[in-house]
Amino acid sequence: MPIRARNGKLDILAFEYDHASWEVLKLNHKSLELLMPCCNSKATPKTSKLGNYFFSHAVKDGCLSEAESQEHIYIKGVVAKAAKQSGWDVKTEWQGVSSTGEEWIADVFCSKGNANIAFEIQLSRQTKAETLRRQKRYKESKVRCAWFASRNVFDSNYIHQNQETPFFLIDKPVVGKDPYIKQFSIQLSSFVKRMLFGSLKWNEEPWMYRIEYIEDKCWSCHKPNKQVYGYGIDWFDETAKTVPNASTVLEKITDIIDNSELNDLGVNAIAKFDNLKGNAPKFPYCNACLHCNAPQNNYYLMQKRQASYKDKNIKTGTVEYSASGESSGEWLLNEN
Ligand SMILES: [Zn+2]
Ligand SMILES: [Zn+2]
Repeated sequence: MPIRARNGKLDILAFEYDHASWEVLKLNHKSLELLMPCCNSKATPKTSKLGNYFFSHAVKDGCLSEAESQEHIYIKGVVAKAAKQSGWDVKTEWQGVSSTGEEWIADVFCSKGNANIAFEIQLSRQTKAETLRRQKRYKESKVRCAWFASRNVFDSNYIHQNQETPFFLIDKPVVGKDPYIKQFSIQLSSFVKRMLFGSLKWNEEPWMYRIEYIEDKCWSCHKPNKQVYGYGIDWFDETAKTVPNASTVLEKITDIIDNSELNDLGVNAIAKFDNLKGNAPKFPYCNACLHCNAPQNNYYLMQKRQASYKDKNIKTGTVEYSASGESSGEWLLNEN
């Protein structure tokens, strides 16, 4: 149910009314041409049993807009009002279209200068795929969209915190009560104001990998090189255990980091050498010398690794690598 009606070029926003002025509008609306934003049919201002102000179709005929819960109408009002008080231009139930021609209707649409922000209030179940589809559609419309979802329907595992899809859980909505956002210890209306003020920041934490190596000398060019034998992230480590497993571990490292980056870190590259003596059949990944690209077979690597346990002169070490595109992070609400 919309909380906006059009009167010529003007928007009538229900959340801007108090009891007295809303009663006046209800008495006088027939002298105005109030139209529904969904279908342009005549709009009637109404008050729900729970005290929400909204607009209803004077005649329900042919409009495909869906019914909304009282809680949804109320939260929409809370968000819209906070946005309006923050100095943004606010329209509820705002229709738009993406660059690929897909239509959408935003619960609350806010604009200021070139910035367009949509707020979606999601109180009923929705598949993750559908949420991401709608988010993509906003992106293709050059609109940033943030979601407010009910904690009694969604949990924090539904969408892991990420910059692309800001998805925040609010306490189970009750009409007349500004819902609480536990994550930031703040009421929804204050959160919206802080967001629109620019206080919400994404704090990126790139995943740091450790690449583990043994200091060695190349059999071919005789220059010192660093033989890669494992990797780690956080508390997790995976190092070559056997000759075939060395290939498997090294192959995994090629998924994390490419050869030019390995070389920049001062360690050997990793390459595939089919039918190399010293590698297990069908396990072709092994070190390739940083200087001359000569293959350093895995049988040799495992011998060296074994020796490093006993021989203190054989040095091992790690270099750190932050993977681009792979990250975790969190939303931070700065102090104003
Ligand atoms: Zn309609
Ligand atoms: Zn070499």
